[in-house]
Amino acid sequence: CGIVGAIGARNITPVLVEGLKRLEYRGYDSCGVAVLQDGQLRRSRSTQRVAELEAQAASDGISSTLGIAHTRWATHGAPAVHNAHPHFSHGPGADAATAKPGRLAMVHNGIIENHEELRRELQAKGYVFLSQTDTEVIAHLIDHLYDGDLFAAVKAATQRLTGAYAIAAFHRDEPQRVIGARHGSPLVMGVGGADSSERFLASDAMALAGVTDQIVYLEEGDVVDLQPGRHWIEHIAPGASEHVRMDAADRP
Ligand code: GLU
Repeated sequence: CGIVGAIGARNITPVLVEGLKRLEYRGYDSCGVAVLQDGQLRRSRSTQRVAELEAQAASDGISSTLGIAHTRWATHGAPAVHNAHPHFSHGPGADAATAKPGRLAMVHNGIIENHEELRRELQAKGYVFLSQTDTEVIAHLIDHLYDGDLFAAVKAATQRLTGAYAIAAFHRDEPQRVIGARHGSPLVMGVGGADSSERFLASDAMALAGVTDQIVYLEEGDVVDLQPGRHWIEHIAPGASEHVRMDAADRP
């Protein structure tokens, strides 16, 4: 339903929470926020309002220079905390009892139509699913394709996904990066901060109204790489074997 992502040099948790509040009017059944803190993925999730999530995140001590957040409107899996986004990937062999802290955190708007086929494939590789969402399939797929470069892994994953999605993700091993992708669901990026070094993602520009009015509207098939002080957009035409690289500054 709603996506917010942010990367900068200050604690961006308030930006994530404020962004979710600006998207509340769209309706949702649960919400959550995830950050990379002291080298670990941390998250707070709630089936209550964003204000309750905010209080929970504060008492959980959630604070970081990068993170992602989501308001969920359930399509696959009941409205419940364990189905709320962000979802984490776990390496093969993890189970609910022994699950180690995840490697990758992601949020998703939309529906993955081939989620059952992908789930079977990933289960055969040893991935354990802790939710009933179609979204968790994307988290494990990106983890499976990950070889030290989250941008490359997300691009590869989009070639396997059928359906509509906007996603935002970050990886424990790349603490200076938030990756976004869109296909069938809206996603925008923003540039902000006093020195223009902050980068934001959102499913709706309205979510970023408090932090920037410098918005880049991503196009269908775009994958975006957000880092402090820079960003990069790559456009992947459906079914194309070659990717068109372009600097976002060239975009109108
Ligand atoms: N299909 C996903 C889910 O049910 C995302 C729903 C949404 O767009 O909020 O978790």
